[in-house]
Amino acid sequence: MIDKNRMTEHAMELIRIDSLSRMEREVALRLEKEMKGLGAECFYDDAGEKVGGDVGNLIVKLEGNKSGAPPLLLSAHMDTVGPGEGIKPRVENGVMKSDGTTILGSDDKSGIAVIVEVIRALKEKNIPHGDIEIAFTICEEIGLLGAKHIDINKFRSKHGIVLDSSTPARLVLKCPSAAKMEFLVHGLEAHAGLCPENGISAIEIASRAISQMRLGRIDDITTANIGIIEGGRATNIVPNLVHVVGEARSHNEEKLDSQIGHMRGCFHDTVSKYEVTLHDDLSAGGVTYTARLDEKIERTYDRMDVPLTSVPAKLVTGAVNNLGYSIAPHTSGGGCDANFFNKMGVECVNLGTGMYELHTVNEYLVLEEFYRAAEIVLEAVKLNTVNGG
Ligand SMILES: [Zn+2]
Repeated sequence: MIDKNRMTEHAMELIRIDSLSRMEREVALRLEKEMKGLGAECFYDDAGEKVGGDVGNLIVKLEGNKSGAPPLLLSAHMDTVGPGEGIKPRVENGVMKSDGTTILGSDDKSGIAVIVEVIRALKEKNIPHGDIEIAFTICEEIGLLGAKHIDINKFRSKHGIVLDSSTPARLVLKCPSAAKMEFLVHGLEAHAGLCPENGISAIEIASRAISQMRLGRIDDITTANIGIIEGGRATNIVPNLVHVVGEARSHNEEKLDSQIGHMRGCFHDTVSKYEVTLHDDLSAGGVTYTARLDEKIERTYDRMDVPLTSVPAKLVTGAVNNLGYSIAPHTSGGGCDANFFNKMGVECVNLGTGMYELHTVNEYLVLEEFYRAAEIVLEAVKLNTVNGG
């Protein structure tokens, strides 16, 4: 039922279309044309305007041919991380990879190709199905922004499957909450050779604060990272400004709050220890300068925790059983669009498509798993029809 060659070719065609976050327009137009050709209705929401991108989420509705079957949401994201321009995909020994200078972009073009192949198979074989609603989202890679701004009222589905994870041998049911933390450390500029004692080094403060932080894996469900440091202008200037950006994630809200509190505390404590008093002819007692901190803490997304007994989990596990494969529930360390869909009341699980070493130039797609993901989704669509009808 699944046309493996067609799926592979389609994934490669999609991968050759550059679609960095906020620049998904070209791939969206391509998908719109394909889906209309399959008889689906397509429109865009206004998420693109909200996040400063060149296109919105592409929403596709394929009318069912079986009455009584509940509508089903399928979703994959259109954007990729970099380096992701001019990707040259190739297949060798059952594995798809790039030429090694870019990512592959199977994250998440493989998910898109799975969904489109399932629709093609349904049409070709005239398989009974309920309404299928598809969200091809934008800006997943920069904080799930497309899903965050999706107009969920445009959907009737109460459950769905997101195709955006590593292997179809695992079903992602739990994803963490995440927070982004931005710190701006203000010191005082001075000539580093003539009068360094007149300055306050923002770089010194930031590095002391960070060196006291618990980072990396905090416990089995909590992680933290400082990912960006920018600051300083020249070797002969005591730097007066450093910009630090980090994140924390956890499957437990209290643990997340405690980690955020800890990271903030390291900055606050360190900053409070730095001041310098400068004496000049005008003010007898001198003028005291203190280091200062600006911070911005924002929630990136909320955790998801879907039970194995939920409708979408049962559809996928039932499909896997029917096909003779195996699958294990999985807790992910990363967020996905399903975090927002679940929060908005559409219960969703996340199934892998065979992609590995994501976000690196070594990214690869195992074709056997890629085809298996399509078989599982097609079978889940059939089960959804049976259960509902
Ligand atoms: Zn992804």
